Amino acid sequence: MPPFTFNTTPSLIVGSGTLARIGEIAAMRLGPRVLVVTDAGLVRAGLVAPALDHLVRAGVRVDVYDEVVADPPETVVLNAANRARTFGAEAVIGLGGGSSLDVAKLVALLARGSETLPEVYGVGLARGPRLPLLLAPTTAGTGSEVTPIAIVTTGAHEKKGVVSPVLIPDIALLDPELTLGLPPAATAATGIDAMVHAIEAYTSASQNNNPVSRALAREALRLLSRNIHRAVHHGRDSEARAAMLLGAMLAGQAFANSPVAAVHALAYPIGGHFGVPHGLSNALVLPHVLRFNAPACGPLYAELLTHAFPERAGGDAEDFVAAIADLSRSCGLEQRLRDVGIPADAVAMMAEDAMRQTRLLVNNPRAVTFEDVRAIYEAAW
Ligand SMILES: [Zn+2]
Repeated sequence: MPPFTFNTTPSLIVGSGTLARIGEIAAMRLGPRVLVVTDAGLVRAGLVAPALDHLVRAGVRVDVYDEVVADPPETVVLNAANRARTFGAEAVIGLGGGSSLDVAKLVALLARGSETLPEVYGVGLARGPRLPLLLAPTTAGTGSEVTPIAIVTTGAHEKKGVVSPVLIPDIALLDPELTLGLPPAATAATGIDAMVHAIEAYTSASQNNNPVSRALAREALRLLSRNIHRAVHHGRDSEARAAMLLGAMLAGQAFANSPVAAVHALAYPIGGHFGVPHGLSNALVLPHVLRFNAPACGPLYAELLTHAFPERAGGDAEDFVAAIADLSRSCGLEQRLRDVGIPADAVAMMAEDAMRQTRLLVNNPRAVTFEDVRAIYEAAW
């Protein structure tokens, strides 16, 4: 067996109602002054107030930064880090979707003031130390609560990643009640994103693709494929929501150590230029990238088919691609790039952009050229 490294969040607190423990956990394990990083939509939805209440009742002094937006630009990260310094925060809590959690990670790093954002873009450049960090997701998708990654939008359209083990939080709190109100479209898109994490981790060409990640990816895909319909169409089903949140976390643990590839590389330009949410961007290119990769990972796709879609067990790679495409369609997601307003003549520009995502493309199980990417986008258009 080739050697490998596996890092994950050391403390997982999982279950319905666990948000009520956030005060006690913060007081014991984070520190007496905490900055909560979140977004205004969650404040309006009433999800933030109970958390603040629990914190204050436990004697924790709290300040809130609630200006995180989707695909957060650098200014959001820098403003939030300033807020942490001004308040004298000794710890950070991220509460929200992937964007809030990513910003919280960077705030915990940058608030110490020993590193700047431009210095840490890339793999392994952020050294820390950082402030103690707890992340509580309100979507079942990114798995950010267990990954070493934070994505920032730089300039007008480009995305850059900070990837470093120092960004893995100390504590992940997964309370499925926080996801009950997520609308069907967002539930479907974030759920498909989590499935992509599992699939790309399982077939990653990374030298660190490892048996722990593959075991987690199989179980993640099983949970996600069996529960996504109920979560989308019956949003208050707490069992389905719990399974999705767990599945997304397992997929996060998998790809944190066996990184994602071309689906994500091709998804980023769609989000960057046309504001399409990350999960939907992934869903739009997913079947086409899988079909492209099938010659390189046929047996692996057949294995995943058996785990995720037991009723189709024994099928081949093409059956797996069909099962995934059917699932995406039946969740009500848009299916083509044209459906989300992308013009046909944007394909070449997006392909150029996708080719710049070398951090991701090196992990693809089949080598990808510019012409390949253009053909995949054209098939998805
Ligand atoms: Zn993703």
